Amino acid sequence: MQKIDQQFINNHWVASQSQRRLAVMDPFRETVIAEVTAGDPADVGAAVTAARQAQPAWEALGGNARGDYLDAFAEALSARRETLTRLSSTNNGKALMEAGIDLDDAIACYRYYAGQARALEARQGRLVEHAMDGVEARCYEDPAGVVGLIAPWNFPLVTSAWKLAPALAAGCTAVFKSSEVTPLPELALADIALEIGLPAGVLNLLNGDGDGIGAPLSQHPGIDKLSFTGSNVVGEKIMQAAARGVRGVSLELGGKSPILVLDDADVEQAADWVMAGIFFNSGQICSATSRLIVHEAISEPLYAALGERIDALTLGDPLDEGTDMGPMTSERQRDAVLSYLAQAEREGLEAVRDARHRTLPDQGFFVAPALYRDVPTDSRLWREEIFGPVLCARSVASEKEAIALANDSAFGLAATVISGDAERAKRVGRALRAGSIWFNTEQLVLPETGWGGFGISGIGRELGPWGLAGYLEVKHIVGPA
Ligand code: NAD
Repeated sequence: MQKIDQQFINNHWVASQSQRRLAVMDPFRETVIAEVTAGDPADVGAAVTAARQAQPAWEALGGNARGDYLDAFAEALSARRETLTRLSSTNNGKALMEAGIDLDDAIACYRYYAGQARALEARQGRLVEHAMDGVEARCYEDPAGVVGLIAPWNFPLVTSAWKLAPALAAGCTAVFKSSEVTPLPELALADIALEIGLPAGVLNLLNGDGDGIGAPLSQHPGIDKLSFTGSNVVGEKIMQAAARGVRGVSLELGGKSPILVLDDADVEQAADWVMAGIFFNSGQICSATSRLIVHEAISEPLYAALGERIDALTLGDPLDEGTDMGPMTSERQRDAVLSYLAQAEREGLEAVRDARHRTLPDQGFFVAPALYRDVPTDSRLWREEIFGPVLCARSVASEKEAIALANDSAFGLAATVISGDAERAKRVGRALRAGSIWFNTEQLVLPETGWGGFGISGIGRELGPWGLAGYLEVKHIVGPA
C-alpha cells in the first residue's frame, strides 16, 4: 500500500510534520489503496516560504517562457494517459471513459493557458486610447503574487488544471492542495514539475485535509490570493479567511442546475441529453442538470424514455469498458445521497424510478439512479444540491413558466435548453441566470469560455481570459507624452 507521508515543497519531497494519517479508498472495491498525511500548518508555512522566494524570478521569466512550461505540462500529462486515467478511475470511481475525457480537458487547459501566457507578454505596456492631449497611458498586468489553490474530489486533474494553468501563466507561484479523498492522480503534477525542470518553488503540492492544510493555507498571510472549488459551507469559510488582510478570493461552489425541455423538442434526443446531464460521474458534478423542467405536452413520453434509459445503465467496475456508472466516490457521499432518498420517501415523492428498482453490485459505494416527477418546489430534493444520481422533474405549461422556474434557485452555475429550434433555445438561454448555458448539448466545457456561477454558485470565473484575469493585478503608468 502506498504511504504518502510527504509534501512536495521547493521541488523536493519532504516529510510532513503531521503524525495524522488518512485512508485513501478505491470506492468500487471498498479497499484502502493508500494512506495520506492529514498535513500540518508547518507544511503550509514551508510551502508558502518556497513559493514567495520563487515568485519574483518566475514573474521575471516572462509569458513566453512560462507558456513553454505549460505546453510541457500538457505533453507530460498526455504521455501518462494510461496510468493517469486508470488511477483517476480507481481512486474516484468514475468510468474509465470519463477519466479519459477529464484528462483531455486538463491537457486542453494547460495548452490554452500556454497561449494566454504568450498573449499576456505581447500586450504588456500597450498604449491606452484616451481623450486627453499630451498624456501617455500604458497598461500592464502583473501577477497577483503567491496563490493558495484548493480543490475538491470529483474531477481530479481537471479542477487543478483550471487553477494551476492560469495562475502559472500569469506569473504567480502556487501552493496547491488536492482533496484528501482523491490525492493520487495529482501526485503526478510533482513528477511532471521535476521532469520538465520547473523552477523550484513555483508549484508546491500539499496533501492533507481541511484542518491540516486547507484552513491554515486559507489563513496564511503570505498568500495573496485564494482560489477554491468545493462546497458552499467551506467556501464561506475561505471567504472569511480572505477578508483578513483584504486578500483576493475566487469561489467555484455548488449548483442545482436546470435542464429545460421545450415543447418542440425531439423526445428521444432530449432523453439522451437529460441522461448525460445528471448521470455523468454518478451525478457528482457541480454543473449537473439535476432539475428537469419539461413542457407538459411531452412530459409523459419523456419520463417513459428516461425510465427505459435508466434501466439500461450498467453499474459496475469503473475499469470495465462496459460500465456506464461507477460508485459514489466515498462512503460519506453515498450516505449523503441515501439520506436524500430517505427524505424523498418521507415526502412521498412520486418516482419514475427510485432507489429500490434495481439490485446494486454487491461491492462498491453505489446508489441506484433515480428519477422523481412532479417534485414540489419546496421539497429539499428540488432546492438543495444532492451531488448524486438523482433527477427531480416538474412539468410546466409554457416557456415563460419554464424560465421562471429555472431561475427560482439561489444557485446559478449552469443550465441546458433543449428545443427543436436552435434560435429559440438560445433566446431562452439568454433569459437564464447561470454562468454556462448549453443548448441542444450537455456539459460541453471549452477552455476558451468562462466557468463560474451567479448567486451562491460562486465568485469570479475560471477558464477563458477571465480565468487568467483572476490571477492578475492591472497597473497603469500615466504621464506627459
Ligand atoms: P469540500 O468543500 O468538502 O472540500 C473541498 C476542499 O476544501 C477539499 O480539498 C477539502 O479538504 C478542503 N477543505 C475542507 N475544509 C476546509 C477548511 N475549513 N478550510 C479550507 N479548506 C477546507 O467539497 P468536496 O466535497 O470536496 O466537493 C464537492 C463540492 O464541490 C460540491 O458542492 C460541488 O458542487 C463543488 N464543486 C464545484 C465546482 C465548480 O466548478 N463550481 C466544481 C467541482 C465541485
